[in-house]
Amino acid sequence: MKLEALVNPSVLTQPVYEPGKPIEDVARELGLDPATIIKLASNENPFGPSPRAKAAAIRALDQGELYPDGGCVRLRARLAQTHGLDANQFVVGNGSNELIELLGHVFLRPGDEVVMGNPAFAVYKLVTLLFGAKPVEVPLVDHKHDLAALAAAVTRRTKLIFVPSPNNPTGTANTEAELLAFVRGLPEHVVFVFDEAYAEFLDNPPDLRPLIREGRKVVCLRTFSKIYGLASLRVGYGYASPELASLLNRVRQPFNVNALGQAAALAALDDGEFVEKCRRENRAGLTQLESGLQALGLETVPSVANFLLVKVGDGARVFADLQKQGVIVRPMRPYGMPEWLRFTVGTPTQNERLLATLTGVLRR
Ligand SMILES: *Cc1c(COP(=O)(O)O)cnc(C)c1O
Repeated sequence: MKLEALVNPSVLTQPVYEPGKPIEDVARELGLDPATIIKLASNENPFGPSPRAKAAAIRALDQGELYPDGGCVRLRARLAQTHGLDANQFVVGNGSNELIELLGHVFLRPGDEVVMGNPAFAVYKLVTLLFGAKPVEVPLVDHKHDLAALAAAVTRRTKLIFVPSPNNPTGTANTEAELLAFVRGLPEHVVFVFDEAYAEFLDNPPDLRPLIREGRKVVCLRTFSKIYGLASLRVGYGYASPELASLLNRVRQPFNVNALGQAAALAALDDGEFVEKCRRENRAGLTQLESGLQALGLETVPSVANFLLVKVGDGARVFADLQKQGVIVRPMRPYGMPEWLRFTVGTPTQNERLLATLTGVLRR
């Protein structure tokens, strides 16, 4: 009997996520010194983690033989304080990617529909397909989520709606007022997932807690991978009503979040100064990139996140040529935008190097 005959059919047709290439792989393939390569491909924090978070993770290794706190008790208590909610309204995951999968475990069955924008974060569609549900993709308008069109795409079969704001890969955001009105207009059988991976880069991130207090079916997702610079440790969290949070907690693995990640996340929350510095630097870096790209006559999408889309023409060629010179960025072909690249905002020096290398590449 063929192995394939035994496999869940959704697995056989499951598309593969294409991550940004690690520096070591690019160095090996192109014969470059890893130390000379810069990676501006995955919206990571170019300033690394807060030194306090790093120290806390190293300290946690002293008890590396022990299982982590499976309930993330301290971290959830700290998050509750930060957000003015109860600890039982939180679920912590192995990155917010895991939480997206947990939402699938809790809510999705074959035949269900999941409404999402296009282009938006690729993982929503992957998880939808994995559970045999149907992605209903709604085109963005001016690179922004069109909430009216998303609402119009809801049917009796819709279970989940995903909206990331700021959106990845476009860097655009929806306002608090339009989000509140949109969610209040949704039917009772739909769960709204608000992905706030880049919320900390905004001055005033939309506050959807009133919706949770009103008893609406809303889950907000956050991550320590972006402004907190802890992508390698895999910590994300969701907050919702206690009922919804407890469903998500029911389907996760008992020790889904490692102890180093928990310790680092706790310490990161105590270093508000570092977050503030990163927010400031990011804003300056965005301006630096935007004006440099404008000077090259390139179209960009105005971004409020830590990355931006730029239209370069032959995206595959420019991507490959940049990479040959040790600058890794993200091609947008997998998102159906083959003429575009996504640049993560780096340090001022990295941004300068990106702009200079791009100038050379485009001249050829
Ligand atoms: C980066 C990102 C995430 C975070 O993923 P983690 O699993 O927490 O590293 C979630 N949503 C969006 C839109 C992202 O861009």
